[in-house]
This record gives sequence, structure tokens and C-alpha cells, in this order.
Amino acid sequence: MVINGRPHGPWRGTTVCQLHMREYKDGDIIVIEPFRAAAFPVLKDLSIDRSAFDRIIQAGGYISVNTGQAQDANAIPIEKDLASEAFDAAACIGCGACVAACPNASAMLFVSAKVAHLGLLPQGQVERKRRVQAMVKQMDAEGFGMCSNVTACEAECPKEISVENIAMLNREYFKSVIGSETSV
Ligand code: SF4
Repeated sequence: MVINGRPHGPWRGTTVCQLHMREYKDGDIIVIEPFRAAAFPVLKDLSIDRSAFDRIIQAGGYISVNTGQAQDANAIPIEKDLASEAFDAAACIGCGACVAACPNASAMLFVSAKVAHLGLLPQGQVERKRRVQAMVKQMDAEGFGMCSNVTACEAECPKEISVENIAMLNREYFKSVIGSETSV
């Protein structure tokens, strides 16, 4: 929800459920609204329908390789920088605050986090090209806007997902289209 005009409220890197009433003074006025975006229709009061995100995940937010048991993950060496980048992107909780914060109601921070966290790891390489095309196609079909370079998404994201992921998403998309016969 939006608190006094800010998705998740006034504190950086914080979800609304971590916002305590003791942070407010007696007499403060608190205006609470639902996230507003055409792709997130309001169901009732503060409830919105975020199933558009689910459909984007269904379009490409998965891997199809057999990753074995938990201990097998440690048998695949992954460069520390890549693992850290993927882990940072994987912190996205799919809340939708980035969409609510964006003047274009863009979902690119969310999509870029998913594309980055799967595409940076060896387990995510099989669907790498197909994934980015399918997720962007579904994002467009759901009616989200394009990135406006305002970076309000990063400022309001409770998991501090970086807009550098959007740059990566754009690179991944163009690389996937060049030389690809897949229709987008
Ligand atoms: S990128 Fe941040 S604001 Fe957007 S859905 Fe993920 S956690 Fe929420």
C-alpha cells in the first residue's frame, strides 16, 4: 500500500509491514491508499490484483534443468561476483511497489530482477534467450508501461533492487532478438 504518497511508506529498504506506528507523532495525519496502476486493478479497499506478476513468472520465471539435491548446488562452482549479483536480484519479493512508484507504471525493475537472478546462474542458461523474450512479451501484454528512467522504482523498492538490472534486461533482450527466429 501507499503511505502518504510513498509505496511502502517513508523509509528506504523497508516493507509497509515493518513500518511501526511508534515512528509517528500524536496528531500526525496518515493517508493510506492502494497501489495504483492499470495492470493492478483495485479489488476492494487496499487490496489489488497482482496476478499480472504471476503470469509474467509463468511466462519465463523458471528453469527446466534438474538441479539435484541441496548438496549438489555446492558442487557447481560459481564466480563470487555473479553469485552475489544473482542473490541480490533474487531478493525481489514481487510486491509491486516499483510499478506503483513509476510514473509509467513500468514493471521493468521486477522483470529485470527475475531475468537477472535466473540468467546469471549456470542453471538458468538453457532458457536464457527464451525467458527474456517471453517475460517481456507478457509484461507488455499486461499493460505495464516502459521504463521512464526516473528510477523511483529503485528508491521505493523495499529490497533495494538496483536499476542496473534494467540495463541488463535491455542488453539480454536485444542479444536474444539478434539472430533469433523467435517471434516477439
Ligand atoms: S523489484 Fe522491488 S519493488 Fe519491485 S516487485 Fe521486486 S521487491 Fe517489490
